[in-house]
Amino acid sequence: MSKLKRNIAEIKCLRKIFEAKGSIKNDFKKCVYCGLCQKVCSVDAIAVSKDQKTWSIEDDICVRCTHCVFKCPIKALTLQK
Ligand code: SF4
Ligand code: SF4
Repeated sequence: MSKLKRNIAEIKCLRKIFEAKGSIKNDFKKCVYCGLCQKVCSVDAIAVSKDQKTWSIEDDICVRCTHCVFKCPIKALTLQK
């Protein structure tokens, strides 16, 4: 197996491990769009606009580390299966 194919296989394997943990969900009734979750995300998976009151996450990038969950001051974020 070439190095490239091995790298792709490893990435696919990691993706399955991450996805098995679930996905980050936001309770929009609680979220105040402060942006703290965006600041702590080391892979830039979260985008927040306080002015436009928007919050989004890129599931394909998120590694399910849950730093954002613990950082959110009002517990709006959860890791759910
Ligand atoms: S840290 Fe919590 S309240 Fe702030 S933008 Fe993120 S989810 Fe919303
Ligand atoms: S779980 Fe980790 S990687 Fe995913 S959005 Fe939150 S901080 Fe970023």
